[in-house]
Amino acid sequence: MRVTVLGAGVVGLTAALELAERGARVRVVERAAHLGEAACSWCAGGMLAPWCEGESAPAEVVELGGLAREWWARRVPGVAQNGTLVVAASRDSGEIERFAARTLHHERVDEARIGAFEPDLAGRFRKGLFFADEGHLDPRAALGALTERLAERGVAVNFGVDGLALPSHAEAVVDCRGFAARDELEELRGVRGEMMILRSNEISLSRPVRFLHPRIPLYIAPRGDGLFMVGATMIESAARGSVTARSAIELLSAAYALHPAFGEAEIVEMRADVRPAFPDNLPRIIRRGTTVYLNGFYRHGFLLSPAFAQRAAAMILPDVEGSDEDHRQRRRA
Ligand SMILES: Cc1cc2nc3c(=O)[nH]c(=O)nc-3n(C[C@H](O)[C@H](O)[C@H](O)COP(=O)(O)OP(=O)(O)OC[C@H]3O[C@@H](n4cnc5c(N)ncnc54)[C@H](O)[C@@H]3O)c2cc1C
Repeated sequence: MRVTVLGAGVVGLTAALELAERGARVRVVERAAHLGEAACSWCAGGMLAPWCEGESAPAEVVELGGLAREWWARRVPGVAQNGTLVVAASRDSGEIERFAARTLHHERVDEARIGAFEPDLAGRFRKGLFFADEGHLDPRAALGALTERLAERGVAVNFGVDGLALPSHAEAVVDCRGFAARDELEELRGVRGEMMILRSNEISLSRPVRFLHPRIPLYIAPRGDGLFMVGATMIESAARGSVTARSAIELLSAAYALHPAFGEAEIVEMRADVRPAFPDNLPRIIRRGTTVYLNGFYRHGFLLSPAFAQRAAAMILPDVEGSDEDHRQRRRA
């Protein structure tokens, strides 16, 4: 079967790969001139953290997000699987209790254990939580690796092509245009997220650290080579625009509170984008004629796209049982 995927964000690329692995003849068309130019996915932290997300997300996110680490690790290099550390300043230790009460699969850690996990945080926090079964990836590297996996299977990503301007055809279309699909998905709303990338050689972290705060919860994800992604704001707005001064102050203050070395860090990048979300903040697969819409990934594009790509592929190719990649892995196991 021939399938055209619209959009080369994380949702489009995971869907395209899952379909190609099941034998479909796939092409991807992307309106932007190059990878990440206009994709919300380029802003992401890349946390594969279903148990932490359970603090505020429905059980479905935790359950389906559990597939993500393995899916990614089988297909792209550099997926870290060494957990998430959650800390708070002593005056906000109630936040640790609140987070612990709302999440599962964590271990309580004291000052010594926090220092053992992250030596540069030694002596800075008395209490925390460690979520061992979580991981993270560099989203930009992962998107690049997905396009390489697709190319190996003969799937081209055609940049600078507006998928809506293609001549209509009988083949299946998987619409993964993210927030741009609001023209056809009326319930879709935008949730603005702002992030920055800092560079510091004064501090090193080996896993994402969530810093709880009653007003400004923040996370810092290490990207290697002294780079750290600091995120992220959550604002009910569909405005892309630049990062505001208020948000920059909040992100930087929280980074500084996590470790004063971030006060001397170089600001490499600040960027904002719009997370596509449905009212219940859960992704949806919507079928209309020959088009399947895959959208509404909110703050879980990297976490949930594997599970939803599998579901969409099973819907489009009902006679194919699983991907050849999955079969290969099962045979090896
Ligand atoms: C600051 C921030 C941090 C985040 N952190 C995480 C995280 O740690 N973990 C996680 O799982 N998620 C995270 N997210 C959420 C995640 O980034 C989104 O859920 C995800 O990017 C949505 O992906 P998408 O492919 O639907 O949309 P997009 O990434 O926006 O991709 C849509 C693509 O479609 C293209 N397009 C639009 N119109 C057309 C057209 N007519 N024809 C062809 N192409 C078109 C666009 O150019 C774009 O490239 C974060 C989001 C933000 C903003």
